[in-house]
Amino acid sequence: MQSTLVILKPSCVQRNLIGEVISRIEKRGIIISAMKMMQLDEKILREHYAHLVDKPFFPSLAQSMMASPVICMVLKGVDIVEVFRKMTGVTNGRKAEPGTLRGDFCMSGQANIIHASDSPENAEIEINRFFRPEEIFDYTPATLQYIYGDGEN
Ligand code: UDP
Ligand code: MG
Repeated sequence: MQSTLVILKPSCVQRNLIGEVISRIEKRGIIISAMKMMQLDEKILREHYAHLVDKPFFPSLAQSMMASPVICMVLKGVDIVEVFRKMTGVTNGRKAEPGTLRGDFCMSGQANIIHASDSPENAEIEINRFFRPEEIFDYTPATLQYIYGDGEN
């Protein structure tokens, strides 16, 4: 199975949406391999958003990501990177489809409640950026045989 890195941003934590988002993750049949609260700083954000450091909105993006603690998670599943990007919805919450997390829970292109890795390669890099190996748990959920059909996972 594949893993992805997810961050519940300050806009999720502050708006009391942690439970809503985690509930949808659980109901979908996605495995939570790791989870912790973290206060991000400028150093980790300059790495994490390296593709955006030169954009005019980077200072306000960094501020918004440091405004409160965040929840970092490693999620696991078959094709999880693609599955979870679809669940997340497009970057601007006002354009995100209803049914997606951003499309149901936010109205902003910046305070868009959640980060999800955009490729398996970046997922591996991002997981290593936010988690030590001993913080990630490899266990088999008792429900696994009902989440996937025979030979699917
Ligand atoms: N962002 C922003 N203004 C923009 C584009 C992006 O503030 O014009 C923020 C937004 O919070 C977004 C993050 O920068 O989630 C990372 O941007 P990216 O293009 O990687 O979007 P994502 O992968 O989060 O959909
Ligand atoms: Mg991105």
